[in-house]
Amino acid sequence: MPLFYPMYQPYVIIVLPAILLSLYAQFKVQSTFQRYLQVPAASGMTGAEVARTLLRRQGLDNVRVEAIPGNLTDHYDPRDRTLRLSQQVFYGNSLAALGVAAHETGHALQHATDYVPLGVRSALVPAANIGSQMGLPLAVFGFFLNSGFMLQLGIVLYSAAVLFQLVTLPVEFNASSRALALLEGHGMLARQEVGGARAVLSAAALTYIAATLAAILQLVRLLLMAGLLGGRRND
Ligand SMILES: [Zn+2]
Repeated sequence: MPLFYPMYQPYVIIVLPAILLSLYAQFKVQSTFQRYLQVPAASGMTGAEVARTLLRRQGLDNVRVEAIPGNLTDHYDPRDRTLRLSQQVFYGNSLAALGVAAHETGHALQHATDYVPLGVRSALVPAANIGSQMGLPLAVFGFFLNSGFMLQLGIVLYSAAVLFQLVTLPVEFNASSRALALLEGHGMLARQEVGGARAVLSAAALTYIAATLAAILQLVRLLLMAGLLGGRRND
């Protein structure tokens, strides 16, 4: 579809820095994770043990912890209160495994304590899904079809996806800071080991920053296209 070739898309260069940052962040998270996967924690606990122990000590016996396939597929699902950890994290006792397990436990704690940004984020999911799938194509088609209405509707829809990315940032940063405090506070990591877990979680945070930057720059680009369309129509 020639319409979507970059050369036909005005201002596409604006998004380039975010694409480069995303590539760097993905490289960084993989390399940092692999590096600290090789460093065992002195406590000898596995990711699953860390998650279950922290949950129990916080009174969250209703949260299940289970293993799932894949690499860096770890997540907490608030719908069925289940913490799913990848094999390397679930069975592993590395600084990387413990950092990720405690981070996901942090999300379960956010859910249990009605942490506001998490609630806002969950509420935005349906709108953000529509916005990220339909907003951009609709806006770009609108631009080429000279339809200000389609372009503006695309921008409104896409804004929901941008908002979702923005709200994701405090949720992720908060889960990581909870994780590091819990690991050290409960004696699961020694002070000198915390740095390794922090490096893994900081690299993961960079991927969220890159995604947010990409979404914001894409929105700026659509707004510039709307200005261009307005100018073209006034000629
Ligand atoms: Zn997270």
